[in-house]
Amino acid sequence: EHKAIATPRRTKEILEKYSFAFKKSLGQNFLVDVNILKNIMHLAGITKEVNTIEIGPGIGALTEQLAIHSDQVMAFEIDQRLIPILDETLASYDNIKIVNQDILKADIRELCSELFTDRKEIKVVANLPYYITTPILMQLLMAKLPLSSITVMIQREVAERMAAVRNTKEYGSLSIAIQYYTEASIGMIVPKTVFMPQPRVDSAVLHLSMRDQPPVKLNDEPFFFDLVQASFQQRRKTLRNNLIRHFKDVLSKETIEETFDGTEIDGTRRAESLSMEEFARLSNYLFHITK
Ligand code: SAM
Repeated sequence: EHKAIATPRRTKEILEKYSFAFKKSLGQNFLVDVNILKNIMHLAGITKEVNTIEIGPGIGALTEQLAIHSDQVMAFEIDQRLIPILDETLASYDNIKIVNQDILKADIRELCSELFTDRKEIKVVANLPYYITTPILMQLLMAKLPLSSITVMIQREVAERMAAVRNTKEYGSLSIAIQYYTEASIGMIVPKTVFMPQPRVDSAVLHLSMRDQPPVKLNDEPFFFDLVQASFQQRRKTLRNNLIRHFKDVLSKETIEETFDGTEIDGTRRAESLSMEEFARLSNYLFHITK
């Protein structure tokens, strides 16, 4: 009978054996609850028909579950001290490849095509290092990798912003950026107590299902994201004020008023009331004027 890595007892044993000291700067908070991991497998839709990518295996708590429930596993770990530990804790699995690289610098596409030679779906599943949650997710999405979904444990507050709908205080440019590429939902809220050491904040499992097509048609993606960010610059202010300020060197006030008329969007509204489709209309109209 196999003892799971993700228990407080086994984790302590492993850490002591290697005199491992956590590095806060690498966001090292290890999961010590097998039930949470099983829920994650379920939320992510992991089966033997799926290949998986993990970011930050730590001592292998989640990696082990991925090895049991998915086909091939590729895990990126930046901390060299963990490599010999993973060699031992995961020794009984032959479907795991550990890559000792910074996920933000790795050539994921190339490594995927080397390791995942069948045509199975690829899913990302991870308990992310919280200090780089947003850069990791945005990089994965913008690289347009052949992924079907991303299921990640992240800070609760960030998960809520990523999955937010309009007319809520969590809705902002991050919600739009994430939801342009994916359908986002929160799978579960996770208490601090299932981690070792415990983080300062609560966590949540965010599930991102990749869209086949963006939900809106854009003339220019960077221009759209810039406009969305500008619209939320000062949340309490009107769309009109934020846009006049942002475009003051390139567009006259009159042009901006004209844009509100032309797109039938009321400039006295606040950004948090706009749908992605409305931002897209504004963006396509303005892009055409600035060219
Ligand atoms: N998956 C393990 C678990 O759930 O117990 C550990 C999760 S821990 C929150 C985050 C892991 O990401 C740590 O093992 C840390 O060393 C690793 N990590 C931090 N920055 C990284 C980076 N840039 N690239 C790859 N791994 C990183």
